[in-house]
Amino acid sequence: MELNKILGISDPLNAMGSKSSKNAKIWLSSPHMGGTEMKYIKEAFNTNWIAPLGKNVDEFENTLKEELGGKKEVVALSSGTAALHLSLIMANIKDGDEVLCQSFTFSATVNPIIYQRATPIFVDSEEDTWGMSPIHLETAIKDRIAIGKKPKAIMVVHLYGMPIKIEEISTIAKKYNITLIEDAAAALGATYNGQKCGTFGDFGVISFNGNKIITTSGGGTLICNNKKEKEKIIFLATQARDNAPHYEHSTIGYNYRLSNILAGIGRGQMEVLNAHIAKRRDNHSFYQKLFENINEVDLFKEPNSAHFSNHWLSVILIKENSKFNRKMLNEHLAEKNIETRPLWKPMHMQPVFNSYPYYGENVSETLFANGLCLPSGSNLLEEDRKTIAEQITQYFKPE
Ligand SMILES: *Cc1c(COP(=O)(O)O)cnc(C)c1O
Repeated sequence: MELNKILGISDPLNAMGSKSSKNAKIWLSSPHMGGTEMKYIKEAFNTNWIAPLGKNVDEFENTLKEELGGKKEVVALSSGTAALHLSLIMANIKDGDEVLCQSFTFSATVNPIIYQRATPIFVDSEEDTWGMSPIHLETAIKDRIAIGKKPKAIMVVHLYGMPIKIEEISTIAKKYNITLIEDAAAALGATYNGQKCGTFGDFGVISFNGNKIITTSGGGTLICNNKKEKEKIIFLATQARDNAPHYEHSTIGYNYRLSNILAGIGRGQMEVLNAHIAKRRDNHSFYQKLFENINEVDLFKEPNSAHFSNHWLSVILIKENSKFNRKMLNEHLAEKNIETRPLWKPMHMQPVFNSYPYYGENVSETLFANGLCLPSGSNLLEEDRKTIAEQITQYFKPE
């Protein structure tokens, strides 16, 4: 605690949302324990299954599989990024291959393309769900084929828990016979036409990082089609040891499995997943009411009933040509100890990626310019909402 004070870090108990005080910081999205996590961790200690793997990993995978509809297989991994990396290896992405990738996302979607020494080809978003534009996707595929290189994979992202137009994207992927990878890192529990995000593509990825809808403190899962693929993923994720009494290797391996202790947190968290989704959706309804009378702001909403978002984060767009802007709102709220964050800065605008090809207009650029993510945690208190409502109303008050 002393060290935290010196470093200016606030009370970690408040970060957990388990305690509240008048000046506690209101976080964008912080870990929210359900209560049974310690029971599973203790079980691992009592049986000395600290490592490797063990019952918590098996049970966590079983409940995840069930949550995703039961038809797909899942492998628990050390992070969503590790899962994205292995999805590219499973798709046989190698040196010099081209991978079509949604530009409007977190860098973790793109980095594994570079790990594989492949080339990302960025594609813009469409305005309804902010997911990859099917129109620009098909233009990009045709153009790359015309140039002489057919892309080997498509990476799309369900942003902020919102299901994208995944059936249209899936139809295009099938038409051109290209592997489809779904980054559903923040979309656990979200559905499109009743089907869970992460189960539409050849591979799907979910993250259990600290700020996600549920957390294992750090972790992720790779969703695949069958047991054979699952076995291969486990093989790659555990150093690619061939079947021999000694250490024999004919492939490059990785150390990407989830620990049995962290999977214990995951088991407990799965018990509160639906409650967390309900709370996040309720936060979204709260913002809907709050912004009803603020004309300068549009709240990011499900475009129609086919899309069921987990509303991981509630996001607003401040209208262009308004006298208000996201930077000033962010600063106004930061002064009151309320955390907000701009939307993802598109990958084709990032210094590290801006030399790669880009297909699109400026949909993602406009979203970045005008959007702000608001506190959305499942541990948001009624009094937090009151503070948020007061401060937002004050910022947008007519003069
Ligand atoms: C969080 C996130 C990731 C990365 O997951 P980690 O578990 O943190 O590695 C990837 N893509 C998106 C869209 C994310 O939100």
